[in-house]
Amino acid sequence: MLTVNAIAAPSATEPLVRTTVERRDLGPKDILIEIRYAGICHSDIHTVRGEWGEVPYPLTVGHEIVGVVAETGAEVTRFDKGARVGVGCMVNSCRECENCQAGQEQYCLAGNTGTYAAVDRDGTITQGGYSTHVVVDEDFVLRVPESIPYEKAAPLLCAGITTYSPLAHWNAGPGKKVAVVGLGGLGHMAVKIAAAMGAEVTVLSQTLSKKDDGLAFGAQDYYATSDPATFEALANRFDLIVNTVSAPIDMAAHLGLLRLGGTLVSVGAPPEPLPVQVFSLFNNRRSFAGSSIGSIAETQEMLDFCAEQGIAPEIELIGADEVNEAYERVLKSDVRYRFVIDIDTLRA
Ligand code: NAP
Ligand code: ZN
Ligand code: ZN
Repeated sequence: MLTVNAIAAPSATEPLVRTTVERRDLGPKDILIEIRYAGICHSDIHTVRGEWGEVPYPLTVGHEIVGVVAETGAEVTRFDKGARVGVGCMVNSCRECENCQAGQEQYCLAGNTGTYAAVDRDGTITQGGYSTHVVVDEDFVLRVPESIPYEKAAPLLCAGITTYSPLAHWNAGPGKKVAVVGLGGLGHMAVKIAAAMGAEVTVLSQTLSKKDDGLAFGAQDYYATSDPATFEALANRFDLIVNTVSAPIDMAAHLGLLRLGGTLVSVGAPPEPLPVQVFSLFNNRRSFAGSSIGSIAETQEMLDFCAEQGIAPEIELIGADEVNEAYERVLKSDVRYRFVIDIDTLRA
């Protein structure tokens, strides 16, 4: 067992504090990763504040992890010591159910093993990436292309894949009109990826304060959802709407923006329901869908796509002692556009 430095939430209401967590001895297929950078996802905040249900405190969160392979188990074949690797939102799955067999282990019918707050296959509680090291089965480890700057690669492991997967599934590309609701961590990656796929992208943000950024990320249009005229101007326009908002949105108003056969997919995960009047779906034969992260194979595909296209997240690099302040800024939608923790500041 390895005891390593970490940051943990002691409870739903207290600030995160420096502590240590235990990492298991390497099994034959395990990799010990020395973590370099960890992104802060809004899911970390929903989780530690108990908004999604009971939490096994104290808990170390973080599922946007990049680092270097420090040691490999005896049967590891895919990675060598020193390789540049990433870990996202899951670290295992049952590998036997229909969905795992179909290569969609994020939808494992037994529940995938989350990178944090999950019961691991050995019965311990998984602890996430706000720490100096992690031990992960090689099948759940990603290769991070050299051309993506190290610290910028971290947010791709959740924000990147969570937006890439629905954009790919619903065929965002040339001739498709895509709207992205919310320009935060996920939203800004959705804009960059959809634009790189060739779609015509519109941002729907609470205000126009980030308009210049949205256009620079590849959007053609940018509208404020606080202005009721937006919903008239854009009625029946989009093939796909990707909702990344962490709070409930006005479903009828947003569904009204879909053209014939269009889909609104929510990746945003507010604890409250998103109520839908079926009549909003009848018009234009619309669909309302959800989507959860992406498979390991698709995550690798997304990393390679971002490397090829030269796209990467916009980040604010912070030290280990600035995480609580960063959480407050995320909650105020004051993030440009992802906080990333420099894990070297946790080694001392
Ligand atoms: P984030 O950086 O906080 O971005 C959310 C954005 O939503 C904000 O920047 C803001 O954009 C908008 N927003 C926030 N509060 C709002 C409100 N009350 N009304 C309208 N708009 C509001 O969060 P994130 O890390 O991108 O995560 C977004 C959501 O996705 C979270 O709920 C997270 O848990 C979820 N998530 C889901 C998955 C999945 O697999 N499905 C994976 C990762 C994250 P503007 O300022 O531009 O309006
Ligand atoms: Zn996340
Ligand atoms: Zn399974």
